[in-house]
Amino acid sequence: MSSDLVVVGAGIVGASVAYHAARAGTAVTLVDAGRPGGGVTADSFAWIGASGVRTGPAAELRATATREYRRLEAELPGLPVTWSGSLSWGTTDDPPEAGPGQEIVDATRVATLEPALREPPEWAVWAPGDGAVDPVGVTERLVEGARAHGARVRPDTPVTALRRDAAGRAAGVETAAGFLPGATVVLAAGAATAALCGPLGLRVPVGPSPATLFRFRAPAGLVRTVVNNRDFDLRQVAADRLIAAADSPERTLAAVRSTFRGAADVELLGARVAARPMPADGEPIVGPAAEVPGLYLAVTHAAVTLAAAVGRLVASELVDGTVEPLLTGCRLDRRRRH
Ligand SMILES: Cc1cc2nc3c(=O)[nH]c(=O)nc-3n(C[C@H](O)[C@H](O)[C@H](O)COP(=O)(O)OP(=O)(O)OC[C@H]3O[C@@H](n4cnc5c(N)ncnc54)[C@H](O)[C@@H]3O)c2cc1C
Repeated sequence: MSSDLVVVGAGIVGASVAYHAARAGTAVTLVDAGRPGGGVTADSFAWIGASGVRTGPAAELRATATREYRRLEAELPGLPVTWSGSLSWGTTDDPPEAGPGQEIVDATRVATLEPALREPPEWAVWAPGDGAVDPVGVTERLVEGARAHGARVRPDTPVTALRRDAAGRAAGVETAAGFLPGATVVLAAGAATAALCGPLGLRVPVGPSPATLFRFRAPAGLVRTVVNNRDFDLRQVAADRLIAAADSPERTLAAVRSTFRGAADVELLGARVAARPMPADGEPIVGPAAEVPGLYLAVTHAAVTLAAAVGRLVASELVDGTVEPLLTGCRLDRRRRH
């Protein structure tokens, strides 16, 4: 059976594209080499860090991230999102100017936001609108939503190549389980996107950027917000669990214990390194690949933050033929055009 759209990659990006396109009435096939959300998405710190960015081609896109997640929550009841706000300090010597969605707060206010801090910093950047997600839970909910709108989902099906027709247009994908035809192919394969494009003569400047996620056993209520400082990104994900994106297990554990009261028994449970898809200039690559008609790319860093927005906008471009202004700075050929 042919689809209007074949989406390669059921990480948080591909799942969001599939959900939004299926919801808009498109016949979607979502295919992944493994399980939905089993790629980098599974090891993400998953902060919806939408505040504070003022510059760059994706600044306006990022500014919509929170609003788009709030919309998605209304569409998909039970979406595992928490709105705790984020608190950052110590990343610059002096307080920065507050960016969009941020305010500078003093030690007294910090102490009310994070009561277990031993020594609240003199100032911190408070972003009350920031949140975080269970990234696998969100991906699974998006896949379930796509299915409810008629999408076919093919887990455990590695895509081996993109097939083009005689005119050079994308015609579908070759997989380990046979050919999946589709009028349009969206590559949302994260760090693997470049390798899938190589045989087409299409260079996509995205590579793997390793980052480590630590999991800790911790007392209930130790950390209330998303905390970001020189030592870690840290948040509580369950009554007895913390996660941190950081560098060294020993240093991170020592920093958690010395930063919070009642943290002496915090215990490292595990660490996983994952390869984040990182475009060469750090900015999203979202849009059609001009060299291969019918091929569309959706790969970005900070994809958890951007997934709700990107999924809706990509679906709008593909289903309605709209050119979304928020994506125009994110095209593959941006360097050639500047
Ligand atoms: C430690 C850490 C902390 C992070 N913190 C944050 C954060 O706080 N906020 C934030 O926004 N982002 C954060 N990120 C980044 C974020 O996790 C990623 O940007 C995001 O998960 C990428 O999603 P994706 O769907 O593009 O990729 P993936 O989740 O990797 O999905 C790609 C999918 O494509 C599939 N695939 C690949 N090749 C093929 C093939 N040939 N055939 C079929 N399927 C294929 C894979 O199996 C995979 O499921 C963090 C990442 C890490 C590692």
